Amino acid sequence: MIRCISCGREYALDEIIYTCSECGSVLEVECEPDVSRDVFSCRRQNMWKYREFMPVDPSRIISLDEGGTPFVRCDTIGGETGVELYVKVEGSNPTGSFKDRGMSVGITKAVELDVDTVGCASTGNTSASLAAYAARASLGCVVLLPSGKVALGKLAQAMFHGARVLSVRGNFDEALEAVTKLALMGELYLLNSVNPFRLEGQKSIGFEIVDDLGWESPDRIILPVGNAGNISAIWKGISEFYRAGFIDDRPMMTGIQAEGAAPVVDAFRRGSTDIEPVKDPETVATAIRIGAPVSYLKALRAIYESDGYAETVTDEEILSAQKLLARKEGIGVEPASAASIAGLLKLVDEGVVDRGERVVCVVTGHVLKDPDTAIRASTKPVEVEPDINQLRDVIGKNKP
Ligand SMILES: *Cc1c(COP(=O)(O)O)cnc(C)c1O
Ligand SMILES: [Zn+2]
Repeated sequence: MIRCISCGREYALDEIIYTCSECGSVLEVECEPDVSRDVFSCRRQNMWKYREFMPVDPSRIISLDEGGTPFVRCDTIGGETGVELYVKVEGSNPTGSFKDRGMSVGITKAVELDVDTVGCASTGNTSASLAAYAARASLGCVVLLPSGKVALGKLAQAMFHGARVLSVRGNFDEALEAVTKLALMGELYLLNSVNPFRLEGQKSIGFEIVDDLGWESPDRIILPVGNAGNISAIWKGISEFYRAGFIDDRPMMTGIQAEGAAPVVDAFRRGSTDIEPVKDPETVATAIRIGAPVSYLKALRAIYESDGYAETVTDEEILSAQKLLARKEGIGVEPASAASIAGLLKLVDEGVVDRGERVVCVVTGHVLKDPDTAIRASTKPVEVEPDINQLRDVIGKNKP
């Protein structure tokens, strides 16, 4: 069953629908199987370990072995901030971001629905992932990207997997509006996160976190918020396991936005569930450069229900956290992902995060997604002759 989160109207699982035809709000898939958590043991560590909770036909899953990503304890940054810190490394998914979890379910659904073309608007990672999964399922793929604002690695992936790549003169929000119209005209099956099946895949991040912690909830999960699908998905997953009795607590969901694109944080500060869209969102973290997040209501409900929090960080704080994670923990992430770490540092300073909290930061995409930013933030290689004395000089080993 698909259900409207505002008016409760129900739709069949095989209906092609993106928003409620009654009230216009976003939809959610209902999926609460009656199973014991014992069924998961001995299964392969990918998101399909939890297949009973995925609302698709398990006999024809389109998968690239996504999920089962590293869950890394980070004692250096944890020690400096006084928390027990774990980092969930979503850059280790097949195309380098958590979008693969959503696309595995989304493309499986597209095949079930027998559509021939899929499409999305994207700040980059959604298109990279969709292009790969569409290729695997032999579906046509159209992606709309905001012109000049997509990180190089993501663009390369979308093009190389064979998507029809359209560079839209406009920002992400405008591209999404355009592709949504194409979808409603029946030109393509829309796989942005307004499609509730996407979030069904992404909720497996929540499943894996509590499974990795030995069926315990962390105190807090911190993640970047762009279109606001992922924070909603993780909360949905955690809540399903909570209601199934697999865990006894739920974490405080903590969303971080870039200062120049922060409508969800703004609503949180007003104690509201309504956003005022940001007209010209701007941030170095292109993956969260979104002014009118589609899933804002789900996200705000998750934050309020979980007694969570929302905060902004500056581009400077994002880039400095990105470097910190790379240099102190060996984890390379793209700028948007580092918003979670930047958020942790800020919330510790502000006293929102308490000492000793068990915190999970979700880092959403791989450092190689945005090589330009990584190179710009680093010192240039030094040119040398292949001469031992000169080399020893340069690395500072030839003391005078
Ligand atoms: C998509 C994406 C986000 C934002 O996720 P939403 O579900 O849109 O809030 C954050 N980081 C990266 C790397 C992404 O690709
Ligand atoms: Zn409705």
